This record gives sequence, C-alpha cells and structure tokens, in this order.
Amino acid sequence: MKDKLNRKLTDLRISVTDRCNFRCRYCMPEELYGEAYEFLKKDQVLSFEEIVRLTKIFIKLGVNKVRLTGGEPLVRKNIETLISSISSLDESVDLAMTTNGYLLNKFANILFSSGLKRLTISLDSLDNDIFQKMSGKKFNVDDVLMGISSAKKAGFKNIKINSVIKKGINDEGIIDLVDYCKREGHILRFIEYMDVGTLNSWNRGSVLDSKKIIDIISKKYPIHPVSKNYSSEVADRYKFDDGEGELGFISSVSNPFCMSCTRSRITADGKFVTCLFSNKGLDLKKHLRSRATDEDILNLISENWLIRNDQYSLDRSLEKGKVKDKIEMFQLGG
Ligand code: SAM
Ligand code: SF4
Ligand code: SF4
Repeated sequence: MKDKLNRKLTDLRISVTDRCNFRCRYCMPEELYGEAYEFLKKDQVLSFEEIVRLTKIFIKLGVNKVRLTGGEPLVRKNIETLISSISSLDESVDLAMTTNGYLLNKFANILFSSGLKRLTISLDSLDNDIFQKMSGKKFNVDDVLMGISSAKKAGFKNIKINSVIKKGINDEGIIDLVDYCKREGHILRFIEYMDVGTLNSWNRGSVLDSKKIIDIISKKYPIHPVSKNYSSEVADRYKFDDGEGELGFISSVSNPFCMSCTRSRITADGKFVTCLFSNKGLDLKKHLRSRATDEDILNLISENWLIRNDQYSLDRSLEKGKVKDKIEMFQLGG
C-alpha cells in the first residue's frame, strides 16, 4: 500500500498518553502546561485493548515497526501489559519505546521481560543545570543516567540516546554527550530542533544544523558517514574513525527526508495522523467504539494512507505551505 508520493506504511508510533513528568521547553512549556492544564480524561484515551486491536490492523497493512511514545510512556499505568500484548501479536515486529528515562531505573527489567525490543532515551544535556532548564523540572540528570544504565543491565542492546540541541542553550555540552555515549556504547542521535506544534516559539535561528554539530564533533573525533540500515531510516549514520561507536543526525530542518517517510502516528485519543506537522487526524476512536469491524477500520486507514501527500519539512525548506494549528508534539508522540 503506497501513498500519493509512493511511500509505504511501515512504521506506527503510538502515543499512549498526553501526560508527562517533564515540561521540556520545546515540547510542553511549564507556563502553558501548569497545574490548571486539562489533559485528556481516562475515557478519552485509547484503552490497551483498543491500542492492541489497532496495532493488529496496522500490522495487516504492512507495519513492521511499532514505537510507544507520548507524552511520557512510562507514566501510563501498567505499560508492560500493553507491551506483552503487542509483542505477542507478531514476534517479527520491531517493538520500541521513546522515553525521557526518568522512571527507567524502576521499569527497565519489566520492559525487557515483557518483550520490548529497543529503547530510545531522550537526553539533552549531562550538565544538571542545563538538563533542568531543558526539561523544565528540578529533576536530576543522574536519575536518567541511572535509568539508562539499568536498561543496559536489563539486556537492551544498541540503546539510542536522542538529543535536541538548541543554539545557545545546550550546544556547549555536545562533546560531553558524545564522550558519554561513546564510552557506554550507546548510539547518540542529534535531532534538529523542529517547529512541531504551535507553542514552543520556534525560530530557524535557534536550530543548530547537523552540519555544524558534525564540525564540532570532528574537531575531537574524526567520523565518517556510513550507509543507512534501511531506506526509510531518518538518521544519517556516522561511525568514529577509531571503530568505536556510532552517531546519527536527524536533519529534518536542514535536510528534510519527507520523500522516504513511511511513518504514521496515533494520538493518545485515537487519531490517525500521517505527518508530524499535521493539524488534523482521522478519528479512529469513534470507529473503535462503534460497531465498526476490523475490516471497516482497516479500509478507513488504507483510504487515508492512499491519499497521503504530506511533505511538510520539504515545504518548510522551500518556504511554502505553512500549516496553522498543528497538533502538539506531546499529543502526537515524537
Ligand atoms: N517523553 C518521551 C521523550 O521525551 O523521550 C517521548 C515523547 S517526546 C515528544 C519524543 C521525542 O520528541 C523526544 O526525543 C523529544 O526530544 C523530541 N522532541 C520534542 N519536541 C521536539 C522539538 N520541538 N524538536 C525536536 N524534537 C522534539
Ligand atoms: Fe515530556 Fe518528552 Fe515532551 Fe519532554 S519531550 S515534555 S519528556 S513528552
Ligand atoms: Fe514525514 Fe511529515 Fe516529517 Fe515529512 S514532515 S518526514 S512527511 S512526518
């Protein structure tokens, strides 16, 4: 099944909650998401049964990579139950999670034994003050580091660390992050700061382009590009010339990769969204809670994919096609 731009549907990202224990400035700034903010109510969020039912349908449609995200997936109660159910649907599906890592120390073993195959942890700085500035909370970065170390001990291999660099805020810590990941054997990936949602006051000037990050790293560690693991991989991969370790650069602002984008997303309240920068989605929850059969839902999803022509990042780079009222990152899952 291919969309209008000849792209298959192979990846599904499921936001299991819109809630989060962090208030990252680029995602849910504290002043907008304080005590008074009303997150989704329990009955508005998809149940585990509904998520599993949908995942099964997506697998039928060709999805072979499923990522649990949010909000913060580890704040969803009994997340391990969902992991076991999805992993027993089809052993060959690559089941992964993106987390801020704060609760990972507690959950690493159970995530692994429930069938989660891969973990990506977001970590923007090793400096506690800057970490707190970026994450918007007075939590200690050491707790995240402890979580990452527990994940390694639990058995997770090739752990990925995602870092968003904001110019003038955390760019001085790039080499510390590289040193840490190289030493620990984690794959560090730099994500260009993006204009997702509407509330993070993004401007092009605060993006540190991947090329600049590569220059900074190259001064200490010679690195060279290597080929992608698969054609729709979003990160450009680099290896260290000394053979020890790997880096990735996700350059959605400076070098958009829309033409190979095979990703779809389900929001916590069950909307099927075909681009990270969409302002709307297909309400699957309504159908899940009606008398629709699996086949009806499968047909709805495939009809939606067949007409997909999203290429927001490419349009942004060409300075055309502005989207108003985009869905926020924490609602969509990154
Ligand atoms: N809470 C989890 C976490 O932070 O890992 C999962 C959800 S979070 C929305 C997923 C990813 O999106 C994180 O790696 C985060 O750094 C990234 N992200 C959020 N807002 C972003 C932005 N404006 N630009 C680039 N990446 C962003
Ligand atoms: Fe929470 Fe992740 Fe958004 Fe940070 S990026 S506020 S950790 S959902
Ligand atoms: Fe895919 Fe949309 Fe991102 Fe382009 S902008 S890579 S279509 S999610």
